Amino acid sequence: MEAGFLQHGRFQALLDVLHGCGYRCIGPQVRDGAIVYDALSTCRELPQGVRDLQSAGSYRLERTSGLRYFGWANGLQALKPMVFAPEETLWRVQRADDGALRFSASRPSFANLAVIGVRACDLAALALLDRHFLGTAVADPCYAARRSGMFLVAVHCSDPSGSCFCASTGDGPQASGGFDLALSELDEGFIVETGSARGADTVAGLGLEPVTASQRDAAARQIDTARARQRRGLPSRDLRAALVSNPEHPRWEQVAQRCLACGNCTSVCPTCFCHAVCDSMELDGSAGAHARIWDSCFTAGHSQIHGLTVRPDTRTRYRQWLTHKLGSWHEQFGRSGCVGCGRCISWCPAGIDITEEAAAICSGSSDG
Ligand code: SF4
Ligand code: SF4
Repeated sequence: MEAGFLQHGRFQALLDVLHGCGYRCIGPQVRDGAIVYDALSTCRELPQGVRDLQSAGSYRLERTSGLRYFGWANGLQALKPMVFAPEETLWRVQRADDGALRFSASRPSFANLAVIGVRACDLAALALLDRHFLGTAVADPCYAARRSGMFLVAVHCSDPSGSCFCASTGDGPQASGGFDLALSELDEGFIVETGSARGADTVAGLGLEPVTASQRDAAARQIDTARARQRRGLPSRDLRAALVSNPEHPRWEQVAQRCLACGNCTSVCPTCFCHAVCDSMELDGSAGAHARIWDSCFTAGHSQIHGLTVRPDTRTRYRQWLTHKLGSWHEQFGRSGCVGCGRCISWCPAGIDITEEAAAICSGSSDG
C-alpha cells in the first residue's frame, strides 16, 4: 500500500526510526570493489552514485554522477548468510564427572535485523528458503530465530545488470510481496509502500508527503525499462521434462571441460541450501560439537554415500546442480530454484552462464 513520498535528503530519518525501534540495520556498502551487506549506521555508507557492470565471469563497480543510493543491481550475497549461517554449531556435548554425556542445543540469540535495499529476486529466494527451513513439521530453530526478527526494506530494481534475468523467472524487477516496506527510488526521493503493519507503524511518524501522479508514472516507467533491459532469460519456467530427458546430452561434458568445480555458483546462489556436517572433539574426549557448514554439489564429499561417490566427475555434478535447480525443485517446492539474480553467472571464474547451458541442453540438439 502506498504510504507517501520521502525526500532523498530525509532517508536518514528512516534509518533513525529503525534504530530507535531496536533494529540493527544492515545495508549495502562497497567493500573491496563489490557491494556487500554490512552494518549500517548512516545513509552516507550506502553506495551512492555507484553502478555495477556485470557479465559472465565479471563484476565491476563504476562511479556515476548520480545521487541515487540503489542505482545498481545486486551484490555478492543476498539474504542467505543472514538466515542460514555459512558455519554454525548446532549442538555441543560435555562429559560429566560420572562419565555420562550431556548434550545441549546451541541456540545463540540474534539481534533483530532490518535489512535495507533488498531486491525482488532476493525476496523470492527468501520465500524458498522459508519453505525449506520452516515449511515442515519441525522448523529449523536457528533459521527460525534469525528469520523471525527480520524487517525487510525492499527497493524495486531500476538498474538491472547484464547478468540479471529475473523477468524471465517471474521474480522481478518489482518486489511483489514479502517486505515490510518497499521503495521506488527516483532522483528526488522515494515512493514508500508498506507491506506489513509494522512497516506502516515505522513510517507513520516520518511525515511523508503525498505522491504525485508524475512520480508514480516515473516509478512505473523505470520498472518497465528495467524489465525490458534484461537480455538473458531461461527458455521456460519449468524445464523438468527437457532436462530429465537429456541426461546424456554432450553439452554436459562440454560444460564440465570449462567448469572448475569451485562451488562459487552454489555459494552465491541465494537459494542453494546444501550443507555438510562436521563433528569435532576435544583430544581428551571431554567435550565435542556438531556444526553444519555450507556445502556444494560440486564437491566430491557431497556425492558420497556409504563410501561410494555417486557423482564421480564434474559432468555429473554440474548435471546434478542444473537438473535439481531447474527441474526437480518443481516437485519439492512447486517452482524452479532459480530466481534469476544472475550471481552464478557473474561470479563464475569460468564465465559459465546458466541460461546458455539450460537453453543448449533443453534444445535437445546434440551439437549444443
Ligand atoms: S559453474 Fe563456474 S562457479 Fe560453478 S563450480 Fe563451475 S566454475 Fe565454479
Ligand atoms: S541459479 Fe544463478 S541466477 Fe538462479 S538464483 Fe541461483 S545464483 Fe541466481
